[in-house]
Amino acid sequence: MNKEMDNINEEIKHEITFHLLEESCFNKEWIVRFNKQKRVNPLICLICKQIANDALKLECYQHKHINKSQIAGGHCLNQFLKSNNGYCPVQAHANCEYSENEPLRNQINNLTVMCIRQFEQELRVSNKTEKEEGEAIGVIKCDFKGKIKELKTHLDNECPLKVMDCWFKPFGCNCTCHKKEKKKKKKKDETNQLKLENEKLKKDIQSKDNEIHKLNNQIIELLYLANRMQQNYWKPKILQLDQNCEKAA
Ligand SMILES: [Zn+2]
Ligand SMILES: [Zn+2]
Ligand SMILES: [Zn+2]
Ligand SMILES: [Zn+2]
Repeated sequence: MNKEMDNINEEIKHEITFHLLEESCFNKEWIVRFNKQKRVNPLICLICKQIANDALKLECYQHKHINKSQIAGGHCLNQFLKSNNGYCPVQAHANCEYSENEPLRNQINNLTVMCIRQFEQELRVSNKTEKEEGEAIGVIKCDFKGKIKELKTHLDNECPLKVMDCWFKPFGCNCTCHKKEKKKKKKKDETNQLKLENEKLKKDIQSKDNEIHKLNNQIIELLYLANRMQQNYWKPKILQLDQNCEKAA
């Protein structure tokens, strides 16, 4: 069962990453997270049924007026034509005609999306049906929300889910670590260092306190002694004075 799940996860991961890398169409489930189905429907690639990437509009005269999507992703259409001897995907005829459609491409590029890696991660977590556990162990999250055209820069430069080579790679480690995990680890190390220093300072202060306490006690003792000595010095003299007074009276 677990193995099966793992396989499914791997498939999903592969599929999404693959799609993005190959510039295939955009995952519809991902797009509809932030876009109404109604808005998204006219942007669907007629070949893969996902959201058309590098959208092309078919313009064959054979089916100019049919009420059916005539939009395809650039990659999908190329693949389709290649494997179907150039036959049109709308109706089986040769000499398929199509053109780039700038307004359509703009519309798609301006769709608001979440980070594809975050989407992928959420799919994996919900597939495991251990959402709470996943959240409890503090998985890294990417809160990117932006336009499709901004996504590449995000993924390349600022996405915390970007998998990077481990710092210890030069020493033979083959693992991949998340950018943020590295930062987190550094932060943790720094925090631990601070904690240690803080502990040491506390101990220093404690021992200084003890010293001050001891010194205070010594001063009090000395004052007490001084007082006693003063009394011892004056007592006989006062007695003497008293006696003198009595004699004179
Ligand atoms: Zn497609
Ligand atoms: Zn056609
Ligand atoms: Zn991201
Ligand atoms: Zn490593």
